[in-house]
Amino acid sequence: LNARYMEEISLPSASKCGEQFKFMVNSGLAVELENVHAQYTDGVGLYRTEFPFIIRDQFPTEQDQVDLYAQVLGSYPGKTVVMRTLDVGGDKALPYFSIIEENPFLGWRGIRLTLDHPEIFLVQIRAMIRANIDHDNLHILLPMICDLHEVDEAIRLVKQACFELSDELEITLPLPKIGVMIEVPSTLYLLPELAAKVDFCSVGTNDLTQYLLAVDRNNARVANLYDALHPSVLRALYRLGQDAQALHFPISICGELGGEPAGVLLLAAMGFRRFSMNSSNLARIKWLLRRVELAELQQLLTEVLQCHSPKQIRAEVQRFLEQKQ
Ligand code: PEP
Ligand code: MG
Repeated sequence: LNARYMEEISLPSASKCGEQFKFMVNSGLAVELENVHAQYTDGVGLYRTEFPFIIRDQFPTEQDQVDLYAQVLGSYPGKTVVMRTLDVGGDKALPYFSIIEENPFLGWRGIRLTLDHPEIFLVQIRAMIRANIDHDNLHILLPMICDLHEVDEAIRLVKQACFELSDELEITLPLPKIGVMIEVPSTLYLLPELAAKVDFCSVGTNDLTQYLLAVDRNNARVANLYDALHPSVLRALYRLGQDAQALHFPISICGELGGEPAGVLLLAAMGFRRFSMNSSNLARIKWLLRRVELAELQQLLTEVLQCHSPKQIRAEVQRFLEQKQ
C-alpha cells in the first residue's frame, strides 16, 4: 500500500480539480532521521524544540542551540522552517527544571513559562536568529498564546534579540517572520488583533481539541471523549478558516488532524490549504487529495456540519471514501 502512495510523492500537491496545497512536515527529533522527504515537501511547518531540551541534563547553551537549529534550517534550503519556541510544561517536563502543579495543562506551560523566564526565551531566539544567518528561511512560532499581551511581549523580546545581535555582529539582521499557535480557544476570538500583530498562525488541533472539550489528551479514562472530529471542534475550525480568509491572515494546520484522511478532507473543504504533518502521513495524504474534487468535499462538509457526534461524522466520511473506490 505504501509503495502505491510513494509512487506519487513527487507529483504536484493539488486536488483532482487543480486546487494547490502546501504540505510541510512536523519535526523535532534528529533531523537526519526525518528529512527523507525533504525534497518532496514545502518545508517544516512545525519544528518542536522541546526534545533537545528534554534529553539533556541542563539547559542547552546558546551555541548548542545554534548548532542544532543551523542543521535543521540547512536541511531545507530555500524552504520555510517554522521553529516553535520552547513548549514545556503540561505533559512535557524538563528533568532539571521542576514544575509541580495540580493542573499542569492549565498551568505554567509554553509561552507562559518562557515569558516568566525571558533569559530562556532570549537565548533560544538569539540561537535561532544566529542559526538563520546563512540560511534565511526561519519563521518563529509562539506556543500556547492565550492573550494579546503575551504576543506583544514575545515580539518585543524577539526584536530585542535581533537588535542586540545586529549590534554585536555588526550586520543588519532581518527580523524573522513571527506567528502564533491557535490552540487555546480564546485565540479563536482574537483573530483580527492577532492578524494585525503577527505574520501567520498555525492551528494546533491537538490542544485546541483538548481545551475546547476540556478533555486531557493523555488521560485514558476520558480518552473516548477526546476526538478532533467532535462537531464543536469542526464548527470552530470552520469559523476559524472563514475568519482567517476574510482577514487574509496566513494560516496552516499543524495538529494531527491534518495528517488524518478524514481530517484533511474536511479541512480542505473548509478552505485550509497548508498542512504540516508527521512525515509518515505525507505520501498517503497527498495521494488522497490528488483524487478528490473540492466541490464533492464541500458537499461532504455540509452534511458533516449537521452531524451530532464524531461517530456519525466518521460514518459520513467513510461512506464518501467508499463511494470513491
Ligand atoms: C497541537 O497542539 O496540535 C500541536 C501541534 O502542538 P503539540 O502537539 O506539540 O502540543
Ligand atoms: Mg500544542
